[in-house]
Amino acid sequence: MSYVIVEKCLGERYAVCATVCPVECIHPIDHKGEPFMVIDPEVCINCGLCLPECPVGAIVASESEDPAYAQINKDLTPQAKNNPAAPERPKNDPPKRPGNKLVN
Ligand code: SF4
Ligand code: SF4
Repeated sequence: MSYVIVEKCLGERYAVCATVCPVECIHPIDHKGEPFMVIDPEVCINCGLCLPECPVGAIVASESEDPAYAQINKDLTPQAKNNPAAPERPKNDPPKRPGNKLVN
């Protein structure tokens, strides 16, 4: 089991999730032509620290909450894990993706 980054992250990438992850298993990559992040399901220790940090609520606590994105996180991890860290966006920066709201 692993935490999963879901569609709300697409085009946002605040990157604060990656800065709090104690095992550095959150990696940036482009997906569908947009900035995105994925969680490496083999390394995630389910500590839960990342979830309340995401300004738009783009992290879920289990694969069963979004199986399609769980698969996407898994599939993109091999390419994403060697990418350099993404720069952080301020947590109060308004969301870019239509429908997203600041929740944390
Ligand atoms: S903090 Fe949320 S929106 Fe930002 S990169 Fe992480 S999951 Fe994506
Ligand atoms: S649950 Fe913990 S280990 Fe897993 S991605 Fe989030 S911060 Fe990292």
